[in-house]
Amino acid sequence: MIHSERLVREFIELVSIDSPSFGERTMGDYLKTQLAALGLTVEEDGAGSCLGGNCGNLYAFLEGRKDLEPILFCVHMDTVEPSAGKRAVLDGDGVIRSRGDTVLGADDCAGIVAILEALRVIHEQNLTHRPVEILFTVAEEVYCKGAKQFDFSKVRSKEAYVLDLSGPVGSAACQAPTILSFTVEVHGKASHAGFAPQEGVHAIQAAADAVAGLSMGKIDEHTTLNIGNIHGGLATNIVPDLCVLSGEIRSYSHEKAMEVAETVQKQFESSAHAVGAAVDFDIQIGCRAYETPLSHPVIRRFETACRTLHLPSSLHQTFGGSDNNILAEYGISGIVLACAMNQCHSCTEYTTVDELVRISELTKALMISED
Ligand SMILES: [Zn+2]
Repeated sequence: MIHSERLVREFIELVSIDSPSFGERTMGDYLKTQLAALGLTVEEDGAGSCLGGNCGNLYAFLEGRKDLEPILFCVHMDTVEPSAGKRAVLDGDGVIRSRGDTVLGADDCAGIVAILEALRVIHEQNLTHRPVEILFTVAEEVYCKGAKQFDFSKVRSKEAYVLDLSGPVGSAACQAPTILSFTVEVHGKASHAGFAPQEGVHAIQAAADAVAGLSMGKIDEHTTLNIGNIHGGLATNIVPDLCVLSGEIRSYSHEKAMEVAETVQKQFESSAHAVGAAVDFDIQIGCRAYETPLSHPVIRRFETACRTLHLPSSLHQTFGGSDNNILAEYGISGIVLACAMNQCHSCTEYTTVDELVRISELTKALMISED
C-alpha cells in the first residue's frame, strides 16, 4: 500500500526545492540521498559542467529478480519558470496548487515522488521486483539537453516508462513528433532611407516576402510550421541591413519535418536573392519523432498494471517532446505516463492527492510486474 501522507509530505518538500533548468543541484543532492538510502547505486554524470549547469543527470540501479529484464524509469529534475520560492498549498479537497505566483512543479516532481514512494514501499515490504534503472535528467525543459548528454551505453533496459505527461493517471503517450527549431538571418545593406534608399538592400522587406510566401500553422495532418519571432532594423531613417527570424517545425514524420525545413530555407533564399540579400539558415533538431506500436510489450505491461489497479487505460499521441524522444533514439522503447500533473507550465498548475497515490501505485505495479 502507498503511504499517502508520507507521499504528500515528500511532494511538498520536493516542490519547495528550487530546481530550474541548469540549477538542479539541491534537488540532485536530495535524490542521491534518498536513492542511496533505498539501496540503489547512484551515479552523477558530467552533464552539469558540459551544459553550464550545477548538476548532472543521476543514474541509479536497483538489483532485482535475475530472470526478469530490467526496466528504466525516467523523470526530469528541472522545472519551468516562474519557479523561485515555489510552495505547495494543499486545500481541504485534496487539491495541491502553488501560491499562485509560481508554477507548482508537479511537472515533474509528481513523477519523482511516485518513483521514490514506489521504491520505498518495495523496500519496506521486501517485495519481489525486477531490476530497476532510474534516470533523473537535468535540463529537460530546454529541449531535453540533459538527456542528450547522458551516456546510454550504461543502460541495460530495452524498455522505459517516462513519467512526464498531463492527463488522468492511466493515460499515456506512445507517439511524439520531431521538433526542429530554426533561425534565419536575412542580410541586406544599410543606407540612408531618405537620401539614398536605392543604395540599400531592405532586409526586412525580403524577410516579409519570404514569410508571406510560407504556409503557417497546420501544414498537413501531422505537421506544423510557426515563425514565432522577428526583429531587425536600427532606426526609421535607415534601410535595415539585418532581419532575424526564428521558428519551429513539428511533425510525426521526421522526414516531413526535414522537408519543411528545406522549403523554409529555399523560400528565404529565393526572396532574399530577388533583391540582392543573403541568408544564413541555422537548424537545430530538438528531438526526433518516435512511435511505440500498440502491440509492444511495454504497452501491454502498462495496460495489465492499469487493469490490476482498476484504472482505465488509454494510449494517445502527444505533440510535445520529452526525454522519451531521446530514449527512442538510443533504441529504448518507451511510453510517457500521465503522472498527476495538470495545467503544466502555468501558475495554475495543480495536482491532487488521489492522483499522486494512483501514479505511485502504477509505478510500483510496473516495478514488481513479472511480464
Ligand atoms: Zn515535464
